[in-house]
Amino acid sequence: MRNPVPELLDEVLRECADDDGGALHDSIPELAEADPDRFAIALCTADGTVYASGDAEHRFTIQSISKPLAYALALADRGIETVLEHVGVEPSGDAFNEISLERSGRPRNPMINVGAVTTHALIGDPEWSLAERDERVRSGLSAFAGRELEIDDAVFESERSVASHTLALAYLAHSQGKLDGEPHDAVDGYIRQCSMLVDVRDLAVMAMTLAGGGRNPVTGEQVVPVWACTQALSVMATCGMYDAAGDWMSRVGIPAKSGVSGGVLGALPGQIGAGAFSPRLDDVGTSVRGEQAFARMSSEFGLHLMHAP
Ligand code: GLN
Repeated sequence: MRNPVPELLDEVLRECADDDGGALHDSIPELAEADPDRFAIALCTADGTVYASGDAEHRFTIQSISKPLAYALALADRGIETVLEHVGVEPSGDAFNEISLERSGRPRNPMINVGAVTTHALIGDPEWSLAERDERVRSGLSAFAGRELEIDDAVFESERSVASHTLALAYLAHSQGKLDGEPHDAVDGYIRQCSMLVDVRDLAVMAMTLAGGGRNPVTGEQVVPVWACTQALSVMATCGMYDAAGDWMSRVGIPAKSGVSGGVLGALPGQIGAGAFSPRLDDVGTSVRGEQAFARMSSEFGLHLMHAP
């Protein structure tokens, strides 16, 4: 029997490709140079088979999609109690770069920037040098993808040259005793984390690793413990799409995380990992075609989490 998945993916891509709504992210100068018409989608099944359609070879920076993965690494390295002392788990209903803390002084969750910088600083061992933490982040994200990832230096330098807002967030968390270490160091490391280059296949495998309890379906490596994935997916499902989390969950029904370079990662526990990429974004910073493609994949393949079988 012919496998229908490749053709269905091509069809989803074709149907969503006409949408040229949205705009390139412009607060990181280098991202405003992206080719706006690129478009790719990928799926990874629980047995590690990967299907892709469109510009699947094109690499882009992971940006905020690194946040649930970095959160899982921090949980694995420092334990849930320490991580919860520093960062909460409540949806903020705010934009990704909102200046806000809980009354306790914690950032509300690890998916918004203030919580993501705080989470980044928790990765590894508190005694480590910055280079050691950077390497833990790079090799940890690489283990999720199943290949060695590299940093895009131009995007890193570009975001670093406009980082005063992120630095303000880091100082805010630091002022409440929630940021381990020095704000400039944490922001540098966080931006490096966001500058890791991936393609849609990587996103699909990373997503399936999360969805499969931390075991990479391609390499077989147990990247983080099962409980850390349960925690990361729970927070991603409720907070991953920022102030559009409810809209995304009801329309698409797949726990997901977006990034401002145009990537989207979606993970359905035990079932599937998905990735999409197209650089034009809507108002909340989610790829317009990426969202369309996820909505279609969800209905074509019957993936909505809340849909009774
Ligand atoms: N590096 C970006 C930032 O911190 C990530 C934001 C995003 O992808 N939503 O602004």
